[in-house]
Amino acid sequence: MPLAAKPLAAKPFAAKAFQPVVAAAQFFAAGGRALVQTVLPPICLACKKPAGASGGLCSKCWQSAGFIERPYCERLGTPFSYDSGGPLISPAAFADPPVFDRARSAMRFSDVARDLVHLLKYGDRLDLVKPFANWMTRAGDELLGEADALVPVPLHWTRLFQRRFNQSAELARAIAKQKKIAAIDDALARVRATPPQVGLAREERAKNVHGAFAIEKNFRSKVKGKRIVLVDDVLTTGATANACARVLRRAGAAKVDVLTLARVVDQV
Ligand SMILES: [Zn+2]
Repeated sequence: MPLAAKPLAAKPFAAKAFQPVVAAAQFFAAGGRALVQTVLPPICLACKKPAGASGGLCSKCWQSAGFIERPYCERLGTPFSYDSGGPLISPAAFADPPVFDRARSAMRFSDVARDLVHLLKYGDRLDLVKPFANWMTRAGDELLGEADALVPVPLHWTRLFQRRFNQSAELARAIAKQKKIAAIDDALARVRATPPQVGLAREERAKNVHGAFAIEKNFRSKVKGKRIVLVDDVLTTGATANACARVLRRAGAAKVDVLTLARVVDQV
């Protein structure tokens, strides 16, 4: 019987049934990799060339990764090419204010970031979660300092079943551990499977995720009055982040900030 058969499709939270299998697979994958890492010298996470003592990126990948530093738009987190002094809000944030309060990302969605995200999502490279979380913790320091809880952007259960883990939930959990903040993994659910956002224009992206998210009834009280940081791997137009922020706000969240590993930055 195909996986999308009706009885299962009617239960968006059925993903929980697969969690023991997912956890076991992750445990063995992580264990094997840890063993290899203790024997071999550090290699670049992106290109596998020697990475020096840090075990992160080699100097070439580090430079092309495009880590985001101030000055950036205080609302959208998009970097500015020059520093005019003082806090700045970009024209884009004025023209089309996001539903979320503030967004921060560790790096631009460069070729290196694309490769890294791809390795995590499709290459089962769960060893990347920790270094990504380190970069994100640094980029989101201000947001995390004020946060009550982290909420990952959920996958639809059919996709979670295919991929075995939700990369955003893994990142949220690692950041939560580092910063000693609660991570509410199942607060949001993707109640409608949406086609990938890749290749869609801004308006189409917003339409694609409209009504795709819901908050689980039991989690409303955990979100109400709380300052939430929504965690995802990549921020593109902000359509997904806005859709999630809308649901969290409706449930009474006091604040919704967004923290991602990478973000698409239009060339200025
Ligand atoms: Zn490299």
